[in-house]
Amino acid sequence: MGSVKGWICVVLVGILGYLCMDSFDPESIANARVLVTGASTGIGEEIAYHYAKAGAQLVITARREQALQKVKAKCLELGAKNVSLIIADMGEPVDREQILEKAVTVLGGLDYLVLNHIGYTPFQMWEGDVSHARWLMEVNFISYVDLATAALPYLTQTKGSIIVLSSLTGKTPIPFAAPYAATKFALEGFFVALRHELTMRESPISITLCILGLIDTQSAMEKTKEKVSISAYPAKDAAFAVVSAGARRVKEMYYPWYVWPTCFFRDWFPQIRDWAILRTFNYEPQRQEQKAL
Ligand code: NDP
Repeated sequence: MGSVKGWICVVLVGILGYLCMDSFDPESIANARVLVTGASTGIGEEIAYHYAKAGAQLVITARREQALQKVKAKCLELGAKNVSLIIADMGEPVDREQILEKAVTVLGGLDYLVLNHIGYTPFQMWEGDVSHARWLMEVNFISYVDLATAALPYLTQTKGSIIVLSSLTGKTPIPFAAPYAATKFALEGFFVALRHELTMRESPISITLCILGLIDTQSAMEKTKEKVSISAYPAKDAAFAVVSAGARRVKEMYYPWYVWPTCFFRDWFPQIRDWAILRTFNYEPQRQEQKAL
C-alpha cells in the first residue's frame, strides 16, 4: 500500500513538473515580425514589452495614438528593432481592412499575429442591450476572424503563428459577463475549428489559444471591484505566458495555475461548479433582498 502511495506521488510530481516546464527561449523571437492588437494598455502593452525585450520588430494597434506612442517609446528603450503604430477602431470594418497590408509592408512579412484587443463592456447583469452585444461581437470576434483571415497567406509563407487571447469565461460562463462570454466562446469555436482545418491541409501555421483567469489590468480591476472574490494575477506574467506559449506553438495555454484544473473538471461536478461560481461573484442587491424577506 505504501509503495502505491509513493508511485502516485511520483506520478503527480512528474505531471506537475511537466506542466510547469517552460522551455521558452527568448532568442527564438529575436527579429520576429509581430503584430499586436490592443497594445495601448493592459496585457497587450505587456506583450509588446516582452517581444521588445527579445529584440522583435513590432506593429502595435489601438484607437488612442498618444497611449500607443508611449508604448512605442518604451519598446524601443527595451530593445525592439523597430516599432510602428496603426490607429484603428476594430469595430469599424473599413479601419480593419488596411491593418494587415500596412503591417506586412512595414515589417516585410509576418511571424506572429497576436489578437488581444477587447471592446469595453460593463461587468453587470444582462439588461437586454442587444445592440451592445452585436457591437461587442464585431469588436471581440468578427475583427479577430477578419484579421486572422487576412494574415493566413503571409503566415503560411513564414510558418507563422496566430495567438488568440481568450478567457476562462470562454470555457465556463460567469455572471455579469453574458455578451463577453459569448464572444469568447465564439473565438474558441472558430479558432479550434480553423486549427483542425489547417492540420488537415498540412498548413505550417500554429494557433495558440490563451485561456486567462482574472488579470490585474486597470480595466479589469475597475470593472470587477467588489464584485469578485478571487485574486487577480499580474498582467506582466500573463503576457509572458502568452508570448512563451506562442513561441512554443502550444495549442492551448492556461494562466494562472487554477485555470487548467477549472477547465479540466468543468463538467465533472456541475452542481459544485455552479455553487462555486455563485460564491465567487457578489450580488449585493439580491443578498439584501433575501435578508429582507
Ligand atoms: P484592456 O481593456 O486593458 O485593453 C484593451 C485594449 O484593446 C486596449 O489597448 C484598447 O486600446 C484596445 N481597444 C479597446 N477597444 C478597441 C476598439 N474598439 N478598437 C481597437 N482597439 C480597442 O484589456 P486587458 O488587457 O484586460 O485584456 C486583454 C485581453 O485579455 C482581452 O482579449 C481579454 O479578453 C483577455 N483577458 C483579460 C482578462 C483580465 O482579467 N484582464 C481575463 C481573461 C482574458 P484603445 O482604448 O486605445 O483603443
